[in-house]
Amino acid sequence: MRTTEHDALTAAENQAADETLETVTSVEAPRFSDLGLSETVLAAVADMGYEAPTPVQAASIPEVLAGRDLLAAAQTGTGKTAAFLLPTMDRLPHVVSPAKKGARGHRRRNAAKGRGPSMLVITPTRELAQQIETVCRAIAARTGHIAVTVVGGVGYVPQKQALARGCDILVATPGRLVDLMEQGAANLDEVSVLVLDEADRTLDMGFLPQVRQIVGACREQRQTLLFSATLDEARVGAITDLVNDPARVEIAPVTSTAETVDQYVLPVSRDAKNGALTAVLKKEGPERVIVFVRTKRRADTCARRLERAGITCGAIHGDRSQAQRERALRDFREGKVQVLVATDVLARGIDITDVRYVVNFDVPEEPTDYIHRIGRTGRAGEEGWSLTFVTKDDVAEFYDIEALMAKTADLYDAEGIDVGDDYPRVSPNRVPAARPAGKKEKKRRRQAKKATDKRRERVREPKQRAPRQRDIERRAARDAARNAAQATEEGSSHPSSRKRPGKVRVREEEAASRMTAPEQRRPNRAERRAARFGEDAVARAEKKRRDAEERENDEAARSRGRSAKGKAARKGRRDQTERAAAERPARDSWRNYDDAAEPRGRRSGSRGGRSGGRDNRGSYGQQNRSRSGRRPGDCGGRR
Ligand code: AMP
Repeated sequence: MRTTEHDALTAAENQAADETLETVTSVEAPRFSDLGLSETVLAAVADMGYEAPTPVQAASIPEVLAGRDLLAAAQTGTGKTAAFLLPTMDRLPHVVSPAKKGARGHRRRNAAKGRGPSMLVITPTRELAQQIETVCRAIAARTGHIAVTVVGGVGYVPQKQALARGCDILVATPGRLVDLMEQGAANLDEVSVLVLDEADRTLDMGFLPQVRQIVGACREQRQTLLFSATLDEARVGAITDLVNDPARVEIAPVTSTAETVDQYVLPVSRDAKNGALTAVLKKEGPERVIVFVRTKRRADTCARRLERAGITCGAIHGDRSQAQRERALRDFREGKVQVLVATDVLARGIDITDVRYVVNFDVPEEPTDYIHRIGRTGRAGEEGWSLTFVTKDDVAEFYDIEALMAKTADLYDAEGIDVGDDYPRVSPNRVPAARPAGKKEKKRRRQAKKATDKRRERVREPKQRAPRQRDIERRAARDAARNAAQATEEGSSHPSSRKRPGKVRVREEEAASRMTAPEQRRPNRAERRAARFGEDAVARAEKKRRDAEERENDEAARSRGRSAKGKAARKGRRDQTERAAAERPARDSWRNYDDAAEPRGRRSGSRGGRSGGRDNRGSYGQQNRSRSGRRPGDCGGRR
């Protein structure tokens, strides 16, 4: 359509139209070159393939270049990393000038020894730190800055060495940086630009004391840039005093994130969820999909289950080591695995492009996490979609999310997918609630959920209830009554008397009658258990107990240093001695004890058992013997 119009225009009209278009473009979408960035940094922008600044970049870059502090509300996926790195690195001094002749590469690093950093970026997670480092290195390839990253979960030594060599920019997670400061490996005296990235999340993770400690170690005269998904007082109020007369940039309120993401909801019963996930992945294709779950354990089990269904998976969550997380992300980026199963560790900030769709297997606890989760797809204007599973347990939380977004998700077409019977009825014509549930309502829901979980647990594995006090008393009274009755019955003929609890001494006839009339006596414990749990279960339990006992005995024997081999050897020696003794005349057997030709015990002077050592009776010399040839205390082998 547009081409046809253009064809119809004359050359002059064409030129006029182009000019108009340019003017309009420059008003609606500013260019990087309009923002005041140097040629060097513009070259870096071109290297990274950015054509036009995103709104947060357009609003922040001029303010930062002017040296102002910044308070920016921008969630991940908006281009905020470049928004703070481009203008700061444009003006940042170098610990060693990159232009210095001969001072390149290794030699330049040596010249920087111990200096810096001049800029510090604090970010809550390792993944975010590494992502920032990547953008940082891309810009530094032009500006010549030296960047170092320090994060937890990896060795200290390389990080200390890198800091000792000196750097311009330090990207760090708060915990590890404080450790390094306390060990005297990180010095923040020269920090003149401080960036607090994802400040809300940093505080959510409980890093406020570390942040305060870090900020206290930086120069007082500095530029501070604070980026957060929200500037809500309740979330980041504790650190907004760190910025001085800031420029405020509020580009994309957190609730409007998902404009480019089509959202769907799938009501499903709890028991059908696992099967439904596999079915959805098979129906829509499993390639380049992120599945979000609530807990670390669920992430692992979900990944295993998908693998069993033939879908290749990686899992990423807080319990995985740094190396495991990196491998999972790399495999997913490179397409070696189709699906990435993740907890909210991944929801924020991780830059994985080209995610086809996101599945919220569990509704997230925090509505803002939902926004971050679905923000993984449909990035930088690409199209993407998300699907959220809702059960009766969490449908209310999902409605909260819709209230926050002031829009509803469409119902997913579940044809061919088994969603079970007990799914929540979600109306396609619903309107979002005016506001999400308050604290009281959330508390009530938590309690209700706990109660439901407990009920389910009880149905699943019937547990043996601990006897109640009332039952104990009743049983004791019944036993006492039975004993009393027995005593009266047996009357004059010696009543059975209790010797020990649980053991009853009975007369012979009584015992015989008990043996011959099993139905009259109370079944013993094993019988009672067999009746209650079935013969097999009891036999299995008994075998298990015996095995455990044997294992315990073996363990005890081993710890006493008695190996089976040693035992066999000792038995062999004992048998040999016994055979020899049997061959001797019984009365003279003791005489052989001192027979020089038949030494007993160990030879090397140790005491070596009953008659082996010098201090033992077996080694008594001739002088200690009585005239009869017996040794003291010896009865001549007759007793
Ligand atoms: P961020 O919000 O910093 O995590 O960035 C999200 C994604 O947007 C990253 O993949 C960036 O490479 C990309 N990005 C940042 N700025 C631009 C831009 N001006 N044009 C296109 N993509 C961008």
